[in-house]
Amino acid sequence: MPPDFLVSMAGGLILAAALGYWYARSGDSGRGLHRRFREYAQQLPRRSEKAVSAYLAQAEEESSEPGAAFELAAYFRSGGDWRRALQIHESIAAREDLDAATRAHAGLEIGDDYRAAGMLDRAEEAYVRTAEYLPLRLNALERQLGVCEQLSDWERAVGVAEQVRSEDSSLGSKLRCHYLCELAAQAAGAGEMRRARSYWRKAARGGDESARLLVDPAVLDPRDPSRSLALAASNPEAAVLILLGLAGRHGFAGTQIDELLEGLVADHPALGPAVGCALLMEPELLCPVSARCLFAALEERLPAFARVYGAGEPAEFSMESLNALIDELGAASGGPPRWRCTICGHRDEAHGWRCNECGAWESARLISVLAP
Ligand SMILES: [Zn+2]
Repeated sequence: MPPDFLVSMAGGLILAAALGYWYARSGDSGRGLHRRFREYAQQLPRRSEKAVSAYLAQAEEESSEPGAAFELAAYFRSGGDWRRALQIHESIAAREDLDAATRAHAGLEIGDDYRAAGMLDRAEEAYVRTAEYLPLRLNALERQLGVCEQLSDWERAVGVAEQVRSEDSSLGSKLRCHYLCELAAQAAGAGEMRRARSYWRKAARGGDESARLLVDPAVLDPRDPSRSLALAASNPEAAVLILLGLAGRHGFAGTQIDELLEGLVADHPALGPAVGCALLMEPELLCPVSARCLFAALEERLPAFARVYGAGEPAEFSMESLNALIDELGAASGGPPRWRCTICGHRDEAHGWRCNECGAWESARLISVLAP
């Protein structure tokens, strides 16, 4: 058999299964429709254009339930055929006989179709229209934010986040804070530190307790990093991120980091474990002074481990023995990836402010035997 035919047949089977599921849910009233959908499903692989227009004509004629139409459109979009998905969703949105919720749902889908097509301005128009339907307003705003993020249009994202705030004040404040921080990071990246600082101040005035408000200014504008680190001392997680950020962004020499670390741990002993954590994650930061911080942290958290390795005498440790210890601790803590989302459990090797899987902000936590 030619491969085209096999592909068509597989597509037809999937669709038939979807329609069967819809039918099973729709009960007796769907019996007639079911027969027709099965006919369309059989035609679909070979003559999908015709099948869709036949379906659309049918849908206009009688007040059929739109469940199957949504499924049909989802089938097309997942196969990359956003045009047909769009055609179906537009026909649902235009049906006067359906309730407002169903038509608004179709409006969201229209936006998603345009997004799948890469037509982001049209996607945004569809989401803005749908946001007028209050029960789906939050969904529509969140999708608008997705478009802003895709375009890195943080100015507009701040505006949309402000609208989110009137629906869900804590989510909206958090989002607004993050987008202002994105603007600040953008300005800092272009060397415009005055503008960056004004965005940070604006973000801080929002009253949101975001670790990012501590971390970003320290990492991006480290005019006085020891002051920033002292500020972060109340938040070990933030301190770890600051250390990693300083090392990654500015390539601080090991001794500079050491001075900061030593001062930090001396002033705030409770930060020892967090510092140990940061060092475990970035072995290149290690040098004898950092090693002292690391072993102080180890003694506190893992006395047995520290005994085995004789951590009482950190000065005698070589780089080699430190690396062996790091490997062992890494293995004990499950090895990389080292960050885990507290919302969905997604694991990542690198820290990100937003989870790559579920999109939650600041949900990543360190996974380590040293993690507080
Ligand atoms: Zn997540």
